[in-house]
Amino acid sequence: MRIAVASGKGGTGKSTVSANLAQSLSETQPVVLVDCDVEEPNLHLFFPSEDDRYPVTVDNPVVDGELCDGCGDCGRFCRYGAITVINGKHSFLPGLCHSCNGCAVVCPPKAITMVPREVGVVRVQEPSPTLILISGVLNEGEVQAPPVINSAKKRAEREALVIYDASPGIACPVIETLEGSDFCLLVTESTPFGLHDLELATGVTEEMGIPAGVVINRSDGRDELINDFCAQRGLPVLMTIPFDRHIAAVQNIGGLMALEISGWDVEFLKLYTDIVTMMEACE
Ligand code: SF4
Ligand code: SF4
Repeated sequence: MRIAVASGKGGTGKSTVSANLAQSLSETQPVVLVDCDVEEPNLHLFFPSEDDRYPVTVDNPVVDGELCDGCGDCGRFCRYGAITVINGKHSFLPGLCHSCNGCAVVCPPKAITMVPREVGVVRVQEPSPTLILISGVLNEGEVQAPPVINSAKKRAEREALVIYDASPGIACPVIETLEGSDFCLLVTESTPFGLHDLELATGVTEEMGIPAGVVINRSDGRDELINDFCAQRGLPVLMTIPFDRHIAAVQNIGGLMALEISGWDVEFLKLYTDIVTMMEACE
C-alpha cells in the first residue's frame, strides 16, 4: 500500500500528519516514510538518528571540442533548449536538460559524451526497528526535483507499506510523488485559502485517478466550508485535528502527538484503517 500525503499549499501540517501516521503504524507493523519534499525536507527533524547518504546523479552532455565541428545538430535536436550552438560555440543549461541522450545520438562525429552530475542525495535513517525514513534532498541551486524524488521512492519500492510526503502545491514534484500511489490524503485547513488549495489538489488526484480523503488540521470547529466542498466532491473527511495549545506546543518542539498526547496514536491507526476500508470498497 502506497499512501501519499499532499496539500495544495505549504504550512497546513502535511508533514505532521505524515510523521504521526508513520509513527503510529510503526507500533504495529513495518513502515517506510519517504520525504519527497526534496527542496525542503523536514521529516528528519521528527526522527533524529544516524543516516546513510546516497548521491543522486543525472546524465548531462559534455562536448569534446577536438571532435566537434560546430554543425549545430545537437542544438536543433534539443527540444528543451538545454544545449545551443551559436557561431560554433556551445552553451548548456543543466536545469533544462532532461538527460534524454538525444544530442549524443544525433551528433555526427560522436563528440558528445553523457557524464553523470550530482543533483542531490537520498538519506536513509532507521529511527526504530519498524520505521525507515528515506529523505530526498535536492542540492542547493538545482531545479530538477523529479530525479531526486524518483530515487528516494525507488529505495522503498519493495516495501509493503509506504507513506510519501509530497511537497506543497500541485507542480511537477507533486505529480512525481503521487505517481504510483494507491491513495492520497489531502491535508487542509478550514479557511478560504485552504479551500482554494484543496480544490486544486483534489483536481490533481481526480485527474490522476487516485482515491483521496481529507484531513482537516487546526480546526476551530467551524469546518462547514471544507465539509460542504468534500460532500460535493464525494471526498470523505477522515480526520479532524483541532486547534489546540497542547498539540501546538508538542509540534513547536518537533514532537509527535502520536507519542506524546494520549489517544492520538489510536486516532492515526484508525485513519489508516479507514483508508484500507475505502480501498477495499473501491476494488
Ligand atoms: S540530453 Fe537531451 S535534454 Fe539534455 S541537452 Fe541533450 S538533447 Fe537536450
Ligand atoms: S552535434 Fe556534435 S559536432 Fe555538431 S555542434 Fe553538436 S557537438 Fe558539435
